[in-house]
Amino acid sequence: MEFFDDAVNKTKEVFDVVSKKTGEVINTGKIKYEITSQKGKASKEYEKLGRIFFEQLKDEDDIPEDVKEIIKSIKEKEEKIEELNAALGEIKNCVVCPKCGATQAKNAAYCSVCGEKLDI
Ligand SMILES: [Zn+2]
Repeated sequence: MEFFDDAVNKTKEVFDVVSKKTGEVINTGKIKYEITSQKGKASKEYEKLGRIFFEQLKDEDDIPEDVKEIIKSIKEKEEKIEELNAALGEIKNCVVCPKCGATQAKNAAYCSVCGEKLDI
């Protein structure tokens, strides 16, 4: 049964190599996932940080020029988003709550999600 034993051993070797590689793939996959996850979390923290400064700085005069540019750019984007949401609401025959962004029926007086008055 030498041939058979050899075949079994060969198969086992191949299996070990494959499973080791699979293990490595899984490990790097896990690590890559964790990196992406941590980056995503850090990005959210950056956004929070930016939002805090944005809220505090927007009415002050001693804001650095480059920060002023970013604030102006954010405000422009917020206006654009509002316009786009309104356009979307027109198409879908509904309104978008200006406070929370929930889609509401066009005749709704208040937002069913956050309670904001919808004066449209
Ligand atoms: Zn709302």
